[in-house]
Amino acid sequence: MSQPIRVRFAPSPTGYLHVGSARTALFDWLFARKHNGKFILRIEDTDVERSTEDMTRGILEAMTWLGLHWDEGPYFQSQRLDLYQETAERLLSSGHAYRDEGAIRFKVPEGRVTYPDAVFGEIAVENDTIENFVLLRSDGHPTYHLGVVVDDIDMRISHVIRGADHISNTPKQLLLYRALGASLPVFAHLPLILGPDKTRLSKRHGATSVMAYQELGIVPEALRNFLALLGWSPGTDQEIFDDAELIQAFSLDGISKANASFNPDKLAWFNAQYLSRLPQEKLMLYLKPELIKAGLWRNSLEKEESAWFQSLIDLLRPRAKVLQDFIRQSKVFLTSDIDYDPAAVEKFLKDPKVKEYLHILASRLQALPEFTLQNTETALRSLADELGIKAGVLINASRVALTGQAVAPGIFDVMTLFGRERTVARLRI
Ligand code: GLU
Repeated sequence: MSQPIRVRFAPSPTGYLHVGSARTALFDWLFARKHNGKFILRIEDTDVERSTEDMTRGILEAMTWLGLHWDEGPYFQSQRLDLYQETAERLLSSGHAYRDEGAIRFKVPEGRVTYPDAVFGEIAVENDTIENFVLLRSDGHPTYHLGVVVDDIDMRISHVIRGADHISNTPKQLLLYRALGASLPVFAHLPLILGPDKTRLSKRHGATSVMAYQELGIVPEALRNFLALLGWSPGTDQEIFDDAELIQAFSLDGISKANASFNPDKLAWFNAQYLSRLPQEKLMLYLKPELIKAGLWRNSLEKEESAWFQSLIDLLRPRAKVLQDFIRQSKVFLTSDIDYDPAAVEKFLKDPKVKEYLHILASRLQALPEFTLQNTETALRSLADELGIKAGVLINASRVALTGQAVAPGIFDVMTLFGRERTVARLRI
């Protein structure tokens, strides 16, 4: 029987969940799901000064928001100190380590270490380039190298999938596996993520925390899909993947050695795609809290007004780039407030003749047997013919009269959503 697939994501809780770390977590998660393996979460909180519980909470929250559910853990290294201390003692007695001013240091042997990285290929390092490194600090806390190796062995990790910034750490860790007589996991290092200016992605490039993207109105499906393609390619042109497709398509072979580039415009594109295609219930899950926050929510939107509300959302979807666009654009439909854009009024509503036309249009709409999309359109177009003006004049003027803005969804959709009474009242400007 082949070894069970067990991968881990091992963040240090010294900051929020960075999008680069989220990409690492996503690749680990995908690999586990693809192979029916286990995705383990381990919090590497042995740097007592810099680790906080708040950061841990933030990381768990961001992973949950992104849908990266772990099967085991979270394990906390701070609760496993005995294990690291015992292991360091063991390395002392086997002669692989020595005491140095209260600390325990690894004695690097002669020779070289090599390993086949699943992404970067064969990596070889001469041992004389590696210094005798600390395993256990004098305060009894392990260094990163000791903690990570002890835990990866203890947790029976089969594949270590992590950022390429750890490539330089790997040789030390290999020496530790060897000294402990443990078999090696497969190592797969993920390419670095660069900002648009080709330097390592950092705050200078804008938001780097996963939760900052939530605040910007990005939906988790979009961020996930975007992150999946940072350094991995399915080998086809497909860009939009649902979970099942992504799990199916994912493999270590598709990971590139070349640095990935973080393109915010591409993320915006994914978000618009998902906003236009998410199932209604999913979208509502994200929208409702925003509507509540904006004071635009009422329970009837889920009850007697639900069909109407659904048409409103469907009308706004194709133009929405972030969740807040729904809030901005639905306000005029959900309240009786209207913010007139002065430039739009100046451009399309200033001429007193135009206002007269709108009053005639209002009477025609008032008299329609049924207030439907088709009927409102016919009424407007035939009035324009009678008046000898372009339909566009009436359309633009109606749009500003109804919504206050020069840009809005299709005017007849807007009218039918408003309903006869409100449409007529607003046209009588
Ligand atoms: N705690 C390490 C980090 O946050 C993880 C190292 C690893 O994945 O081996 O970078």
